[in-house]
Amino acid sequence: MIIVLKPSTPPEQIQLFTDKLCSDYDVKVNRWDGIHSTVLGLIGDTHTVDIEYIDAQDIVESVKRVQEPYKKANRKFHPDNTAIKITEDIVIGDGSLHIIAGPCSVESEKQIVEIARSVKNSGATLLRGGAFKPRTSPYAFQGLKSEGLDLLKIARKETGLPIVSEIMRTEHIDMFENVDIIQVGARNMQNFDLLRELGRVDKPVLLKRGLSATIEEWLMSAEYIMAGGNDNVILCERGIRTYENYTRNTLDISAIPIVKKLSHLPVVVDPSHASGKSWLVEPLAMAAVAAGADGLIIEVHNDPPHALSDGAQSLTPAQFDKVAKRILGLKESMK
Ligand code: PEP
Ligand code: MN
Repeated sequence: MIIVLKPSTPPEQIQLFTDKLCSDYDVKVNRWDGIHSTVLGLIGDTHTVDIEYIDAQDIVESVKRVQEPYKKANRKFHPDNTAIKITEDIVIGDGSLHIIAGPCSVESEKQIVEIARSVKNSGATLLRGGAFKPRTSPYAFQGLKSEGLDLLKIARKETGLPIVSEIMRTEHIDMFENVDIIQVGARNMQNFDLLRELGRVDKPVLLKRGLSATIEEWLMSAEYIMAGGNDNVILCERGIRTYENYTRNTLDISAIPIVKKLSHLPVVVDPSHASGKSWLVEPLAMAAVAAGADGLIIEVHNDPPHALSDGAQSLTPAQFDKVAKRILGLKESMK
């Protein structure tokens, strides 16, 4: 971290400030006295340094980080890829490609079991299904809640597919004890209380990127979970808001290699929420795999026109079968 002090700051004030930095944080301070101003260089563990506090000091002209503010999620301190073991055979981030598939919302036992069987036959290795749904309208279907989680468990028993479902509230953590991967939705990416609580859980968390979150904000949210002791974070790029409104969101393909460069955490891509249109799922999924994604999460519904949520972006099981074959074929050809 580089701090430029205002011109003509008295030497005793610089000394006081330097002493305070050394006592408050685990850093050493290097000092360069120029003709007009003094520059301080903070060396050491600067991720806990409060940049806003520094910037607010009267003697400070400007301050700049030269190191990322996240530590546990940072590849610099953990050069090897993190591989997250879900079951004996399913490890996300080990170089293999996993497809998580299923409906946006769990609607009935028949629906979820039927979809689970078909996506498994097509090559999906995990089952998704929303039980608690964060909907823009309070009048829209809000999910089957705990009953939805029970139905997912029935589908897991029938097919052996591990289950992924979204949590919305800290108070629900106990209810998710038997869910294999807990999803944090885009709208909750900065629900810091929830992230902190998930840091205390010994379970993988699929952390979706917020609708307007920068890559750094997204990684800082991962840092919240990891700072609590839970290192099992899977990042999920699901499109961000841009001025383009042809698609529901804009898939940020560049985020995949960028996040892989900055972090050791696995990255999964959601082409369904990124596009909002079922016909765009295949090309976006292919692009994500080509760009290095560790997995995909794809919405599949047995009757999209009658789906209780996100029908327009859901593939039918037959469409999914075709898309999954193309995706897995591409992955194979990349070896
Ligand atoms: C979902 O997965 O159904 C969902 C609501 O996703 P997101 O949080 O990315 O909008
Ligand atoms: Mn959805």
